[in-house]
Amino acid sequence: MTDVIIIGAGMAGCSTALWCKRLDLPFTWLEQAPAIGGQLAHVYNPIPDYPGRPAADGAELRGHLQAQLAAEELSPSLCAAVVETDLAGHCVTLADGTVHRGRAVVLATGVERRRLGVPGEVELTGRGVGGSGRRDRDAYAGQAVAVVGGGDSACENALLLAETCRQVTLIHRRSTFRARPALLDAAMNHPRIRVLPDTRVKGLAGTERLEGLRLDGAAGEQVLPVTGLFVRIGYQPVTAMFHRQIRCDPDGYVQVDANQRTTLPGVYAVGDVCNPIYASLAVAAGQGMVAAKAALRELAAE
Ligand code: NAP
Repeated sequence: MTDVIIIGAGMAGCSTALWCKRLDLPFTWLEQAPAIGGQLAHVYNPIPDYPGRPAADGAELRGHLQAQLAAEELSPSLCAAVVETDLAGHCVTLADGTVHRGRAVVLATGVERRRLGVPGEVELTGRGVGGSGRRDRDAYAGQAVAVVGGGDSACENALLLAETCRQVTLIHRRSTFRARPALLDAAMNHPRIRVLPDTRVKGLAGTERLEGLRLDGAAGEQVLPVTGLFVRIGYQPVTAMFHRQIRCDPDGYVQVDANQRTTLPGVYAVGDVCNPIYASLAVAAGQGMVAAKAALRELAAE
């Protein structure tokens, strides 16, 4: 039994933990990954806009965060995957069967990349599937690769990969794109990017490594030989273990009030899991502070 259970150790969970310590609020901190930082692990771009601490990439900012936690003698329980929650009872169960009970719960589970959900995608992840254009463009130099999606991320990755790849095929399920015009125009007019609108990926081919994609589009079914697949079809909130217990929007994002309170007493949400529009590191850090202070006030009033 503790005062606050914090689920997640991305920026929002780290901020919540730092503030709970500062406010002398006892807490149990759980993170399913083997390291803190959440999405920072996958940010290969510069982070110029985190106030007071611009960073060359996510790893650098994560290093600063890790050092700050170490100085405060704070560390979550790592590889501690919550598999079941009874949020009304402020109770969570880990994969190994351990049960934690608190007086309040802070949900900081973040978002994850959406997957295509087609045969071969999971099996070939790490073997041609799941890279980053910025990080991996040299590894795929001279090869034919594909990017799926119609937003800024898909266009940006296609452009990065086209710097080194022999051919980049940009596959989108519709004929209209969400990407902003500057990125879309640059992709459409790039000599090594081929755009396939109104096309869906039906499956992946390859056993040891990715060898091709089965496509279904305007020209019927075809197999596209590629050695790399970069899926950029947006993000989804990590709420599967509790979304029926609190109010979420139609996309699964947790709905909160100005104090980060969910629809259940003593249950708060912070960071990207409750930010479908204004997801950012700065917002996540601020919301961690709000939740810790709100929990302190409400627990003191009990
Ligand atoms: P996004 O804007 O949400 O676009 C996701 C794309 O994936 C959409 O075109 C969507 O198609 C498609 N999609 C969704 N589910 C799919 C499925 N199951 N199968 C096939 N296609 C699917 O996501 P994003 O590009 O990752 O961008 C996220 C946010 O980051 C945006 O606000 C974006 O502006 C920002 N961002 C900015 C930059 C930049 O400024 N340089 C770079 C990257 C990202 P439909 O259109 O048909 O729904």
